[in-house]
Amino acid sequence: MVGLCGSDLNSFRGLNPLVSYPRVLGHEVSATIVQTGTHESGIYAGMDVALCPYTSCGRCASCRRGRANACQFNETLGVQRDGALTDFIVMPREKLFPAKLTLKELCLVEPLTVGFHAVARGQVTANDTVAIFGCGGVGLGAVAASRARGATTICVDVDDEKLQLAQSSGGTHSINSHREALHDRLLEMTAGRGPDVVIEAVGTPATFRAAVEQVAFAGRVVYIGYAKDPVSYETRLFVQKELDILGSRNAQPEDFRAVVEFLQTGEFPTDQAVSVVVPLEEAPDALRSWSENPSRFKKILVSLD
Ligand SMILES: [Zn+2]
Ligand SMILES: [Zn+2]
Repeated sequence: MVGLCGSDLNSFRGLNPLVSYPRVLGHEVSATIVQTGTHESGIYAGMDVALCPYTSCGRCASCRRGRANACQFNETLGVQRDGALTDFIVMPREKLFPAKLTLKELCLVEPLTVGFHAVARGQVTANDTVAIFGCGGVGLGAVAASRARGATTICVDVDDEKLQLAQSSGGTHSINSHREALHDRLLEMTAGRGPDVVIEAVGTPATFRAAVEQVAFAGRVVYIGYAKDPVSYETRLFVQKELDILGSRNAQPEDFRAVVEFLQTGEFPTDQAVSVVVPLEEAPDALRSWSENPSRFKKILVSLD
């Protein structure tokens, strides 16, 4: 089974700068093992797994620091190389994460890891109040991960439907920043201090700036959103608040294990998070109608049974 997210929609529309064509999509993958190598441990034919779609070179500065998720020469399945919308693929053992989960749940592992990794970067603890800007697929993982660490979570979005899903994924409070005054509401919810951690999962100049403006003094800001346009900042806030400003990209193997563990608790609203499951033959039509009406689906799963 393969999940399609906003970045696949961008690739379908020809707007993903990392993709060259033709390209087979598919980076959010669950699979059933058909055959293993002779000396593989812990996996066997018939087992269901989630899959890590990234590669790393092993030689660049990130790889040498043990942060292969930020490899300079990363190639993600379905982005820089062909993905999993096909009958069979071959993957190295270390990219497979077996779990007692349904194929549908396993298919949500990769998109959730991105938010889990951001929360790990922000070193979120149970003492923190974390504001998550943007509650789409990526933000949702950050909400769930913050909650799993015992933090108080404030979900911020302009879409009530997304806020509702975020709320059932572990949100403590929510703010519709289209209708409500973001700054005032955040202060109300944090005894006038602002959130300890802000996780930005939108990628617009306005939200990039708001993260730095709204976070508490001595707080942490984690950016996952990919801003296409340059952002201008009041950089004095970096210094005055003595902020930790962090980027977060893809995810580490431990994030995959954390998501698997979290999903096994059954606390994630899987059915609510998936809009529709279609067979491969219907995937082109589903993508076309998603492209015509982006608010129509949150996530499309393609079943290759
Ligand atoms: Zn994705
Ligand atoms: Zn590398």
